[in-house]
Amino acid sequence: RGRFAPSPTGELHLGSAATALFCAAAVIAARGKLVLRTEDLDSARVVEGAAFQMLDDLAWLGLRWDEGPDVGGPFGPYEQSKRTRDYEAALEALAAKDLTYYCDCSRAEVARVASAPHAGDELRYPGTCRRYGMRRRSFRRPPAIRLAVPPDAHVVLDDRVLGRMEEHVAEVTGDFVLRRGDGVFAYQLAVVVDDLAMQITEVVRGADLASSAPRQALLARLLGAEAPRFAHVPLVVSEDGARLAKRDRGVPIRDQRQAGRDPRDLIRCLARAVGCSLDSLSDPLAQLAHELDFGSLGKKSLFSRDLLGQSPA
Ligand code: GLU
Repeated sequence: RGRFAPSPTGELHLGSAATALFCAAAVIAARGKLVLRTEDLDSARVVEGAAFQMLDDLAWLGLRWDEGPDVGGPFGPYEQSKRTRDYEAALEALAAKDLTYYCDCSRAEVARVASAPHAGDELRYPGTCRRYGMRRRSFRRPPAIRLAVPPDAHVVLDDRVLGRMEEHVAEVTGDFVLRRGDGVFAYQLAVVVDDLAMQITEVVRGADLASSAPRQALLARLLGAEAPRFAHVPLVVSEDGARLAKRDRGVPIRDQRQAGRDPRDLIRCLARAVGCSLDSLSDPLAQLAHELDFGSLGKKSLFSRDLLGQSPA
């Protein structure tokens, strides 16, 4: 069981489309099921109508999912904003094991005492509030809830693309946030709870999320389950190697649609960029699924120009 889990915070771009296609290819190759989940917890960032537009763009690309917000399924709902009771229950389970605590440190305070920033904008939390546990005290601001990372939390993963990953979570991120001070459940918690509840066995997603995998595998373990297998696929970059993340505005799929591009051409371009030999007659997604070698993806760069192809764009 694989899943694609976009955040409806804008348009579906080339980069997220490529990830979705890799995700679908893995599922097709394994004759598995594809789950679509919208990660809409952070209402301040959610763009109205974006979820619908994304599903529509994914369907245009030729993706077919077995479960999702539009088609339902046995593990629904498939929108995170409707699943907060599950996150609450997971927090309670962790709290029952003394693995959570309230933290009213501000970001500036954390930055002041933290060691050098970790990958992305992640800071290692030094554990200032840990000694108070879940006791209610007079908070200086609405408190976040953090995971009390066990000191010996050592995670080893075998990523299908990146190979062996190893991390001492206590040393890298320290006690990370499970629920923010404003009450929004953290991505790290929600994604683990959902992947377990939806019985996901394989996570194919962008390499920008690789640094989250050890934390997520640890959380799964603390919740008494096993994390899915991970495959962190390369991001689409521009010619000079700059990443075309959602926020940096890559090429929107909607533009490609409006320019009259054949989605199969895009899939063929992606397949070619990752070294698949394609005959032009067959179903390119099925063929990508058949030929894709995840183990070789780590050495490949995906340039946006290679995905734009010859069609009008
Ligand atoms: N919702 C996340 C994103 O759009 C992806 C989460 C995941 O695949 O784990 O970047």
